[in-house]
Amino acid sequence: MSHVFHRSLKQSYPTAVSGDGPYLIDDQGRRYLDASGGAAVSCLGHSDADVIEAIREQVSTLAYAHTSFFTTEPMETLADFLVERAPQGLESVYFVSGGSEAIEAALKLARQYFIEIGQSQRKHLIARRQSYHGNTLGALATGGNEWRRRQFEPLLIDVSHVSPCYAYRGLRDGETPEAFGIRLAAELEEQILQLGSENVMAFVAEPVVGATMGAVPPVPGYFRRVREVCDRHGVLLILDEVMCGMGRTGTLFAAEQEGISADLITIAKGLGAGYQPIGATLVSGRIHDAIANGSGFFQHGHTYIGHATACAAALAVQRAIESRDLLPRVRRLGEELSQRLHERFGEHPHVGDIRGRGLFQGLELVANRDGKTPFDPDLKLHARIKKAAMEEGLMCYPMGGTIDGKQGDHILLAPPFILDDNHLDELVQKLDDALRSALGGL
Ligand code: PMP
Repeated sequence: MSHVFHRSLKQSYPTAVSGDGPYLIDDQGRRYLDASGGAAVSCLGHSDADVIEAIREQVSTLAYAHTSFFTTEPMETLADFLVERAPQGLESVYFVSGGSEAIEAALKLARQYFIEIGQSQRKHLIARRQSYHGNTLGALATGGNEWRRRQFEPLLIDVSHVSPCYAYRGLRDGETPEAFGIRLAAELEEQILQLGSENVMAFVAEPVVGATMGAVPPVPGYFRRVREVCDRHGVLLILDEVMCGMGRTGTLFAAEQEGISADLITIAKGLGAGYQPIGATLVSGRIHDAIANGSGFFQHGHTYIGHATACAAALAVQRAIESRDLLPRVRRLGEELSQRLHERFGEHPHVGDIRGRGLFQGLELVANRDGKTPFDPDLKLHARIKKAAMEEGLMCYPMGGTIDGKQGDHILLAPPFILDDNHLDELVQKLDDALRSALGGL
């Protein structure tokens, strides 16, 4: 019997023993095409020689130095690298070990900023329904995923949730995407006014939604309007790019494609590409300066922040993405993948929507396309698909859950940026086989 407290205590897992480019290999020698990058993590695949060498070198010179005593060269260089490429105004980087920690740091930085500038009454957060921002208590409170929150709600801080930018289900009859975006920004503004704008600290959103919907890009203009609403009321904008950032959508930051910047941006997953656990919160000059010129100390800190080996790995990952020109490749492969998904599943009776950006694509499954009726959640279709896909030798990231009876089953595809066209063929074929097997008899 395993002594590991596994994610699910009702299933067993194959033992992964090695990686080979976009494949993971188990102890039986079975190969799995990693079409989800784990959970949108492994953007360089599983055996990148440059990253492995960078880790080896760092570990053998200096594995770790506690940040209350030292700074380190890999941490300084990685911060420079990110700030040089970040959306305007983001001028410093707070390093952590993952996505939830990056969100926690962003929330506390927002709070401390307002205390430093004498607006300590600003403490209310607004986020969106059907969102996911992590599983620690602050991040969980921020997210609007009912299934994840429900049993922990008594422990969660009070956060207001507005409608997500989810065109497939949110667009009204005859409404244009632009009008939808305007309506949602107005809803946010109404919520701010209702709470009293002087009490609102920040609005948190993912530019392209991942874990709760399987890759949903915003409608054009939505984020520009959100930015205007936040500015009008002195509310900070926190963009969660933990999943969609670091090149996943074809630009280093997803916000670039919205033509906006943010006060705080969180990143993780693709930052270290799974070679080391690392996340970060990018901080605007305004927030940094308010703290630097005020108390001078961010009241936070974990033991492993700015871990030297993790920073060296992330730097090697990001340099590889740049020097190998992988972002144009993500855009080209993303279009190719989207086209193949539409060709194969566009008329599928149980695929209601295919959406995404770059190598971040999602399929929404429905019992009935015309009514967009979700499958009965008790069928746990997402779990069946995951199992069937693993049997086919494919990792995809299906998820489910029900919100207002509306959210159904989704599949997230977030493959490594190093795929070639043959891998795309394999991906689509195996997904088709897995869907046929999972839907059989339903
Ligand atoms: N934010 C977003 C948008 C995410 O997708 C996730 C993870 N799926 C997180 C935060 C939390 O990241 P982690 O699991 O690394 O704590």
